[in-house]
This record gives sequence, C-alpha cells and structure tokens, in this order.
Amino acid sequence: MAKNWYPIIDYSKCNGCLTCANFCPHGVYAVEDGKPVVVNPLECVEFCRGCQKLCDYGAITYSAEVRIHG
Ligand code: SF4
Ligand code: SF4
Repeated sequence: MAKNWYPIIDYSKCNGCLTCANFCPHGVYAVEDGKPVVVNPLECVEFCRGCQKLCDYGAITYSAEVRIHG
C-alpha cells in the first residue's frame, strides 16, 4: 500500500461509542460487533485527524505514527 495514513484503533482503549465511525464522511469505517473497524484505509484523507479529535478515549492513532512493537 503506497498510502500510509489511516486510523488504527487501540481496542484496549476503545469503548465502542462509535463517534469515529459515525463522524467520518469518507466511509473509512464500518461497524462490526459494536466496534469501529477500518475497512477502507485508502479513503482516509491524509493528515486528517477528525475522528481522532472526537475520540475521548485516546484510542485512535495513525498508521504513519505507529511503531511496531516486538
Ligand atoms: S471514538 Fe474512540 S472510543 Fe469511540 S468507537 Fe471510536 S475509537 Fe472507540
Ligand atoms: S482521519 Fe478523517 S478521513 Fe480518516 S477516518 Fe478519521 S475522519 Fe475519516
């Protein structure tokens, strides 16, 4: 994947409020089992942080920021 900007959900922090999924106007998220799932990462707008700003639980980071642990 050439693009490297899309949200990654930390499910240990996410409480399933779905604010992010309901907000994003680009169809990046779907909802599965009551949790947001990133299904269309290529639709995410580069450097947009709209959903992250609305997440009160600090559960959203972006692919470009994530370090792989281990
Ligand atoms: S806004 Fe945050 S807590 Fe709410 S569903 Fe999205 S990631 Fe989870
Ligand atoms: S960063 Fe913006 S475009 Fe990307 S999923 Fe969140 S609200 Fe949608």
